[in-house]
Amino acid sequence: MNDLQDKVALLTGASRGLGALIARALAAEGMRLVLVARSADPLMRLADSLRAGGAEAEPVPGDVADAAARERLMARTLERFGRIDVLINNAGIELVGALSDVGDDEIDRLFAVNTVATAQLTRAVLPHMLAQRSGVIVNMASMAGKAAVPYNSIYSASKAAVIHLTLSLRDELVGTGVTASVICPGFVTGTGMYEDLRSEGGMTAPALVGTVSDRKVVRTVLKAIRRGGPEYIVYRGPIRPLIALATLFPRMYSVFNSMTGLRTAFARAARASNKG
Ligand code: NAP
Repeated sequence: MNDLQDKVALLTGASRGLGALIARALAAEGMRLVLVARSADPLMRLADSLRAGGAEAEPVPGDVADAAARERLMARTLERFGRIDVLINNAGIELVGALSDVGDDEIDRLFAVNTVATAQLTRAVLPHMLAQRSGVIVNMASMAGKAAVPYNSIYSASKAAVIHLTLSLRDELVGTGVTASVICPGFVTGTGMYEDLRSEGGMTAPALVGTVSDRKVVRTVLKAIRRGGPEYIVYRGPIRPLIALATLFPRMYSVFNSMTGLRTAFARAARASNKG
């Protein structure tokens, strides 16, 4: 989708972090926005500031894990703009901890937000996109979904599911004019959940793994909307050969996690949140 001017984008997780930056970038492209998150105040403030800059932005506070909220969101989008061109499933939550130390509710909640809501919102927009024979779905996964990371199993699994959901769907959509892409960032600096973990003192990305900037993630989202490629890894260096190797020889995950210091970093973060 090359010309983004006046296209309608529904963006979840827009109240802060990467979502708020993505919202600003989409508005700068002239897109009309529906912004979703649970916290109404920051969402309203963001929408006000985008409108002050001349953009059209509709804040719709709500929990993406709630089916009724998703229905309201779709209804409001169609009522306000009459169509939907781009869905960005960006809302997500993190859960660092040993599997034996995370709670039942935390597991259910994480999959409900990161995975089920992504699938359900995608299902909700598809009939509209298929009818207009155009549309773009961009799902925010993570490097944690590409590589098995200790003390992060539930988050990793939720993001691996998002990757497979996206790539399976993508193949169903061949020839329809609708594309589905998935983004897999590593540790992101500038804003977002890694910065939150870091400032709370629990986590530091190992030097051998490194970080990527929030700006780079935002640029990648725009690239995904424009080009509709299958999967965008946002990482410091060329990591695909290592992932391919670990896919062939899964013991490599363990070697990689030890060598890079990822195991130690996540173990420390798990202890800092009393889950390890
Ligand atoms: P963040 O700063 O914690 O922001 C998360 C956003 O999601 C917030 O706007 C939050 O708003 C919203 N959200 C959370 N639960 C929600 C729910 N149930 N319903 C609606 N909105 C909800 O995190 P971020 O770093 O920007 O993360 C954005 C995405 O990037 C996530 O999917 C994350 O997994 C992925 N990611 C981040 C990194 C990183 O290092 N930052 C790396 C890889 C992947 P409310 O709390 O107001 O609802």
